[in-house]
Amino acid sequence: EDVFQRIAAGEVIERPVSVCKELLENALDAGASRISVTLLQGGKTSLIVEDDGCGIPFDELPLALERHATSKIFSLEDLDRIGTLGFRGEALASIATVSLLEIRSRATGEDRGGMIRSEGGSVVLHQPLPCPEGTRIQVEELFFNLPARRKFLRAPGAETRRVGQLIQEMGLIHPEVRLTLRSEGRVLFDTEPGRDTERALRDHWGCGAARSLSVSSGGVEAELWWSGPKEGRTPLVLFANGRRIQDSSVRGALLAGAGTCGGDWLVVLRLPPEDLDVNVHPAKTEVRFRRPGEVFDLVRRGVAKLVEGGTF
Ligand code: ADP
Ligand code: MG
Repeated sequence: EDVFQRIAAGEVIERPVSVCKELLENALDAGASRISVTLLQGGKTSLIVEDDGCGIPFDELPLALERHATSKIFSLEDLDRIGTLGFRGEALASIATVSLLEIRSRATGEDRGGMIRSEGGSVVLHQPLPCPEGTRIQVEELFFNLPARRKFLRAPGAETRRVGQLIQEMGLIHPEVRLTLRSEGRVLFDTEPGRDTERALRDHWGCGAARSLSVSSGGVEAELWWSGPKEGRTPLVLFANGRRIQDSSVRGALLAGAGTCGGDWLVVLRLPPEDLDVNVHPAKTEVRFRRPGEVFDLVRRGVAKLVEGGTF
């Protein structure tokens, strides 16, 4: 396998939590109602994501591992209106390039399932296999062929914590999906089926949302959830069209609106797909808003209103 491909893969995949993010997004795109993640050594030795989504047809298993093979976008125009979380068809190929990867899957309505195994991106096995409906992806020995990168991974406990945090955050906007995390044979958490956001926030923050507010302007909608005042920090979990993102301007809007008031925040933005460019960074954690000023104002005003609101 080409060394350049390995390096490019390293841009999308930095550590176990980035593998997990991509696999979780795929499971959500597949319409899963249950997703379970199982780690060994913080995901360095093994990371398994199982879902009960639509599955992958046997013949399409090799395609799923190919670069730029995606079942989710069909034309260039689609790039402007991306509804699903994936679209580059890059994630599985990248993960495969730097690991030992195995997919077991059975597509909805098919009576036979299958598996495919790849080592450093080369397919070594593709055969029928009885398995439940849905998909199970196992990633072993991450960065086995990029030793420099492997050395940068943290201790298993630290990698496990990051994965746990990611899953809980994803759970905030998919509270109805049952999420389970296991590590070294122990269940670290297992969410109740049929949660709502309020309950998911309680599980994540250790307290419910004291206040929430939905505001919108010019087609942009912002759902704001605040824990109520807490000393010091103002941690923000931000989603835009279902994607967990980092954005310094939204962060700035939050700080401008909240003033000296601390506390935990969840901000969920929904905007027309053509107003959000997610095709900026391979890992899709940075986005570009078509009208950033509007988003900034909306969040700042909403946050200020929420913080000033009545008594508790
Ligand atoms: P993308 O998500 O950008 O399409 P990926 O590399 O993440 O690209 O996945 C490649 C393809 O494999 C997807 O388009 C989808 O068809 C299939 N796939 C991957 N994971 C799953 C899953 N958990 N359930 C069903 N299909 C999947
Ligand atoms: Mg994907």
